[in-house]
Amino acid sequence: MVQGTLYIVSAPSGAGKSSLIQALLKTQPAYDIRVSVSHTTRGARPGENHGEHYYFIPADEFRQMIKEDAFLEHAEVFGNYYGTSRPAIEKVLAQGIDVFLDIDWQGARQVREKMPQARSIFILPPSHEELKRRLHGRGQDSDEVIAQRMMKAVSEMSHYDEYNYLIINDDFETALQDLRTIIRAERLRTGRQKLRHDALISKLLAD
Ligand code: GDP
Ligand code: ADP
Ligand code: 5GP
Repeated sequence: MVQGTLYIVSAPSGAGKSSLIQALLKTQPAYDIRVSVSHTTRGARPGENHGEHYYFIPADEFRQMIKEDAFLEHAEVFGNYYGTSRPAIEKVLAQGIDVFLDIDWQGARQVREKMPQARSIFILPPSHEELKRRLHGRGQDSDEVIAQRMMKAVSEMSHYDEYNYLIINDDFETALQDLRTIIRAERLRTGRQKLRHDALISKLLAD
C-alpha cells in the first residue's frame, strides 16, 4: 500500500484556507483526501460542530493530552491551544489517503521535523484590505478578535518562505485549481508512481 501524502496548509486567518480545503474536499472523492480535525480550547463559532470542525475541549483536558504525547504538534494561537492528534493521522495515511492539516506556522515546523516527507503550502491574500474585508465578511468574529488577527497576519505571513508551495488566493477558482495542481504533481512524482505502477513497470522492463 502506498502511504498517503501529508499536506500542511498555513495562511493568516481569513486568507481562505478553510474555504479552499472544503472546496477541494467537495470535488475530490472522500476516499482520496481527508482533512485532519484538530483539538482546540477555543469556543465553537456559530455553525461549528464538535468532531467536524474541531474537537472542542477544555484546557485541562488539552494539557493532559500533551502529557500523554497524543499530539503530533500543538501550539498556542490567539490565546487558545490547538493540536493535531497523531494516531488519527497515521491511521489515515496508512490507508493511502492524503491528509490535510490546517495549522499555523509553529505547528508546521513541528510536523516538518517529525515527518520530513510532509509537503507544505502557504496561502496569501491579495492585499491587507481584502484580508480585513474577508475577516469581517465571514461575520463570525468580534471587531476585537478581527483586530487581533489582523495584527498577527504580518508575522504569520513572514513565514511563507518555509513552505514548499505558495498560492495567492485572489480569484478563488484559480487558487483552488492551483491547490489541485500541487496534489496532482505530487502524485506524479517518480517515487510515488514507481510504487503505484510497480506491476506495469516490471512488465515494461522485462525483456
Ligand atoms: P480536476 O482538477 O478536477 O480536473 O481533477 P484531476 O484531473 O486533477 O483529477 C481527477 C481525479 O483523479 C481527482 O479525484 C484526483 O484526486 C484523482 N487523481 C488524479 N491523479 C491521481 C493519482 O495519481 N492517483 C490517484 N489515486 N488519484 C488521482
Ligand atoms: P481561513 O480559514 O484562512 O481563516 P476562511 O476560509 O474562513 O479563511 O475565509 C475567510 C472569508 O473569506 C470567508 O468568508 C470566505 O468565504 C472568504 N473568501 C475566501 N477566499 C476568497 C476569495 N478568493 N475571494 C473572496 N472571498 C474569499
Ligand atoms: P481558527 O480559530 O480561525 O479556526 O484558527 C486559528 C489558527 O489556528 C489558524 O492559523 C489555524 O491554522 C491554527 N490551527 C488550527 N488547528 C490547529 C492545530 O491543530 N495545530 C496548530 N498548530 N494550529 C492550528
